[in-house]
Amino acid sequence: MKTAKTIRIVDPNTEWMKQAQCKGQTHLFYEDGQETKLAREKREAAARALCAVCPVSAECKEYGRRNSEYGIWGSENETERFLAGHLSDVLIRRRVRKIEENRRRRAREKELLKQL
Ligand code: SF4
Repeated sequence: MKTAKTIRIVDPNTEWMKQAQCKGQTHLFYEDGQETKLAREKREAAARALCAVCPVSAECKEYGRRNSEYGIWGSENETERFLAGHLSDVLIRRRVRKIEENRRRRAREKELLKQL
């Protein structure tokens, strides 16, 4: 199956990142793919606490929105960016992955039914 390629536009203005409060704390800003809903809520709350006192929160949020970033940027996660009207590569990839998983599951079920 062919999948669409995503073109990423990387914003060259990253000077503001030098003032980021989250340096060395990136584990709080990105999911590891295995976490529970509760673990995600706790991790994101800790990340947002840093964003709340960060002097470049507005620049960061704008960067996250413009570049379809994943993880927390300026207190926003990818779902919140999407709900604010910004396209999310991450959410699209998750949806495509879910569709592919469902297709494979249905094919397996069909094969099992043939064996009965
Ligand atoms: S707003 Fe949050 S994610 Fe952005 S640089 Fe500051 S601490 Fe890091």
